[in-house]
Amino acid sequence: MFDKKKIMSLAAAVLFLPALNGCLIEVEYDNMATHDPVESQTDSSYERDEHSHARPNQVRSRHIHLDWNIDFESSILSGTATHTLVRQPNFPQAPLIVDVKALKIHGVRGGAGTVDQDLIWQIEKGDDVLGDALRIELAPGIDTVEISYQTTGAGSGLQWLNKEQTSSKKAPFLFSQSQAIHARTWIPCQDSPGIRLTYSARVRCRPDLDVVMSAERQEAKDGVFRFQMRHPIPSYLIALAAGELEFRSMGPRTGVWAEPAVVEAAAWEFADTEQMIDVIEGLYGPYRWGRYDILVLPPSFPFGGMENPLLTFATPTVLAKDRSLTSLIAHELAHSWSGNLVTNATWRDFWLNEGFTVYVEQRVVEELYGKERADMEIMLAMDDLDEEMAGMAPEDQILHVDLKGRDPDEGFTGVPYDKGAAFLRLIENTMGRKNIDLFVRHWFDSHAFQSRTTADFRSALETALSDVENSIDLESWIEGPGLPSDAPRPKSEAFSRIDTSVAAWWAGEMKLDAMPTESWTTQEWLHFLGRQKEAVSKASMIALDEAFHLTAKQNSEIACAWLLLATEANYTPAWPRLREFLTSQGRRKFLKPLYSEMNKDVSLRAMAKEIYKTARPLYHAISTATIDEILGR
Ligand SMILES: [Zn+2]
Repeated sequence: MFDKKKIMSLAAAVLFLPALNGCLIEVEYDNMATHDPVESQTDSSYERDEHSHARPNQVRSRHIHLDWNIDFESSILSGTATHTLVRQPNFPQAPLIVDVKALKIHGVRGGAGTVDQDLIWQIEKGDDVLGDALRIELAPGIDTVEISYQTTGAGSGLQWLNKEQTSSKKAPFLFSQSQAIHARTWIPCQDSPGIRLTYSARVRCRPDLDVVMSAERQEAKDGVFRFQMRHPIPSYLIALAAGELEFRSMGPRTGVWAEPAVVEAAAWEFADTEQMIDVIEGLYGPYRWGRYDILVLPPSFPFGGMENPLLTFATPTVLAKDRSLTSLIAHELAHSWSGNLVTNATWRDFWLNEGFTVYVEQRVVEELYGKERADMEIMLAMDDLDEEMAGMAPEDQILHVDLKGRDPDEGFTGVPYDKGAAFLRLIENTMGRKNIDLFVRHWFDSHAFQSRTTADFRSALETALSDVENSIDLESWIEGPGLPSDAPRPKSEAFSRIDTSVAAWWAGEMKLDAMPTESWTTQEWLHFLGRQKEAVSKASMIALDEAFHLTAKQNSEIACAWLLLATEANYTPAWPRLREFLTSQGRRKFLKPLYSEMNKDVSLRAMAKEIYKTARPLYHAISTATIDEILGR
């Protein structure tokens, strides 16, 4: 995911009726063998995921077939989820336990390779974070279980947008966001990143709309869509979207899906995607998923991007018209190796997904756009990390963070991302670029389609570093708070020049219009605005706005940085733009700091609440959970 800080059942007979507003999805049995390490694990070696009720060492789902009807009238996804099971002989009496949250379960049937009998099931009450456990009793021989269910309005994994919330305003839109543990709110599943499964689906939807998933689309006709994911993936990578969509090809393997009004701009913005694949393949071996497409979502999408396999979900706020924010695509694409191919086994190990991915993203940016831009992006990330960590509890500053009893979404801070990437850069500096490339490639190849823990990585790293002098204090880096003093920090000459100009302006020795801003990149603007935090005042805001028209800038990153300064300085001319920015997109990365800053000031708190009242229906549940907490709703 980019941005650190991220349905149901009717009776089977009903599902096969072509409903006027419905979409029917059916998932088929897939014979492909999985490579899941859990299969070979014994009870004692399986590392329990604190965030799932499942007991995969006893009974594990290895394939799920989804048969769904999408009903935009009622905002309900309904149908069946049919699990194909692996049962461990040591546990002949063990039930199947799946995670469910905010789902209405209608019934459970099963059998040996078929579905021919009702099974005994019950809901075991869990808590507000994990949701409940659906316990299904299994007689000997039963290896197929079909759960009939439907979603409810209380689920956080699906967002239903009415047509006014889309760019074309012509048709409603639906999209999923499963990471970290939201899949259980639209699919009854063993919702742990340590459990991998293949999936297939048949979805019926209004025939005027398109349906896409994180899988190969095998059929799209008359409102019926079929999908197949042949590789074993964790549940958080199952993804669905439906709406008025158009497709534009960008290359032999790449393309963009988006609303008609957005698709051309998106295809232009992301034109380097094919080249990005070539760069990562050169470093870490083949792209193993077939196609790589990008779905640009309506502006309420709460994250920058989500690395759903074959189909990255992306925010429209990166469509800057100058390709300056495309490191987001490098990031999501990199997850095709780090995260999707080799996955964090639990959410404690999330830094393995994100630290690796930010590191690979930085390598792609360096290769395609040069070292200067890569260094600038690293410096901006490190500045943000320093600022964020200054306000964090020490236990949350740890890569291998303890999230027991907490929502894993609370672990989505800059630590797994940017402290994780700094750790990888230190490893690079220690063993050399050639060696880290070989090491990382071997890590991906030897654990392909598997989920891995921090302990697994540490042990591989210790072996790789055993011959290296001046080695690294792995314990401090992995288990300790703060940022160790050997964290590599690049230098940027472009940023140094900006620092000199800013100092000269503050000293009255240089006028703003003498600064060479014509040639500045987005990254240089962000550094320039970051420096203003040190001496922000109403007078400086007036001068800056007069010189550079910053209130009118449309680039989302620059707008957010500027509006943050405006809230600090109480710069009222920016209020109409602030209101527009907060009511036109729902990306949590932008919302969280702006609402937090406004909430600190008594005079701005009322405005924050008033804007939020208007904007809240636009935002995704993941964003509203964060903002509700900030504003004390
Ligand atoms: Zn990510």
